[in-house]
Amino acid sequence: MPLGRRRPAPDPPAASAPPATALRGGVDLGGTKIQALVVDEAHTVLGRSRLETPREGGPEAVTDAVAAALAEALAAAGAQAGELRGIGVGTPGSVDAAAGTVANARNLSDWIDPYPFAARLSGRLADVPVALGNDVDVAIRGEHALGAGRGQDALLGVWWGTGVGGGLVLGGAMWAGRGFAGEFGHLVVRHGGALCGCGNRGCVEAYAGRKSMEAWVRRREARGERTDLFRLMEKHEKDRLTSGIWWRAVRDEDPLALRAVERALQALGAGIASAVNLLDLPLVIIGGGMGDRFFATHGAQIAQYTHDNLFRAGSPPEIVPGALGDDAGALGAALLLG
Ligand SMILES: [Zn+2]
Repeated sequence: MPLGRRRPAPDPPAASAPPATALRGGVDLGGTKIQALVVDEAHTVLGRSRLETPREGGPEAVTDAVAAALAEALAAAGAQAGELRGIGVGTPGSVDAAAGTVANARNLSDWIDPYPFAARLSGRLADVPVALGNDVDVAIRGEHALGAGRGQDALLGVWWGTGVGGGLVLGGAMWAGRGFAGEFGHLVVRHGGALCGCGNRGCVEAYAGRKSMEAWVRRREARGERTDLFRLMEKHEKDRLTSGIWWRAVRDEDPLALRAVERALQALGAGIASAVNLLDLPLVIIGGGMGDRFFATHGAQIAQYTHDNLFRAGSPPEIVPGALGDDAGALGAALLLG
């Protein structure tokens, strides 16, 4: 029984080859929460569950929690694990889909070495096949198949969160390149600019990634500039500047938060324009924690900064928010089963 699979064909399974069971599990494994769904052949959600991601205990504890979330979703759907045709999981870190392993998942507990996640999860759930995918990749796959990108031949997904993830659809299918295509966050928007977590300078993520934004305001606060961001963080009992904290600070017109978000929007616009200048993409979908929070109020600014940098200003891409909300990752993960 295959435990991990290579990237499957992009289209939903052909109706001509009906599986023994049409139910599938989909999981979005995040640094703070685990979202699990059970869906039928029409991608209708039959049961769902959301659990907190364990902050300690390493990959074993996380695997237990993912299995527990799926068990809850199965119970809500009135089904058993053995009835699933398979389980797809979108996960952070370096995914080797063929080997069924995940490594370097730095926002999960003690998860650096390659861990046989597919096999261990399958073992906890009636030996059902498990397919793994990158978390951003599966969310964009979900939006393309079922959400804001439905029916589109080409699009760019921009997942604005702790980092800035991305994914490309070209010719109707996810474009993997040699395995690492779609790294929108590492498009260089300022040559020799701010140092990025990847080691290069001037990447979109170095300006727009929430982690980089926090580092930027911390440096300025240390120099005596005033901000309410960290007071808000403590008031809401967070240990970092979450999307919600940024959103509140911007709403309250905190000057430093406004400047940080402005830099981020400019970098996103320049990056989107560069991608469109190269590929003439008709559609850009904005998602992720920051994207979901800020699109309603700041989507027009992203469009403006994109427009400012377009080669062909007369044919801008449509820029839209994701349509699947919190379900995008888990629905897209269920699509990994092909
Ligand atoms: Zn970078």
